Amino acid sequence: MTGGGSETSAFVPSNCKFPGYAVKTLYYSMSGSVDANWQSAFMDARNWWNAANNDVRFVPFGPNNPPNFSVQQQIAGSTNWNNDTCPGGAPGPGSFMMISTDANGNGTTTQARATIVHELGHAGGLNHVTQPMYCGDTVGPGFQQPKAVMKTGANASEGQMWAFINCGGVLPPYVDDNNGINYVFPGGK
Ligand SMILES: [Zn+2]
Repeated sequence: MTGGGSETSAFVPSNCKFPGYAVKTLYYSMSGSVDANWQSAFMDARNWWNAANNDVRFVPFGPNNPPNFSVQQQIAGSTNWNNDTCPGGAPGPGSFMMISTDANGNGTTTQARATIVHELGHAGGLNHVTQPMYCGDTVGPGFQQPKAVMKTGANASEGQMWAFINCGGVLPPYVDDNNGINYVFPGGK
């Protein structure tokens, strides 16, 4: 699938649909395996999503709200986060978001946060944007597309860090990402 809900969007919905999908809140658990730097990076990324103008919230699980996915950390042996469709490859109980420190370092960088924003976009039902990006929030001329944290590419400068690197250090999620979440979660806040 290419394109999203309209001709002026780049976002691509996925088939990731959690139980409780309609309530527009996704609950997570934080494994004790995640070190303090990465927990901090996750909290920043979560807060960036939650503060943006979109229709999903990422909230810690509680007694009445079991987790939709867990956040885990793998010290070695993984090449990247492994949830590029849904956390753990499928929605629902047992799904997980795995941080690979092999691929993503010690968790103190903007790239670490942008990576988590990107992965939370997967949890929220978005797939990759592969088109060339544009720093604006609408489609540009030719094949240019609005910037999106769901961008993927062969390296960071072509992926979720593209807009941060090329558009003046602006932090994700971006308008196109929010539009994608709002398409997946219609009628939210
Ligand atoms: Zn991805």
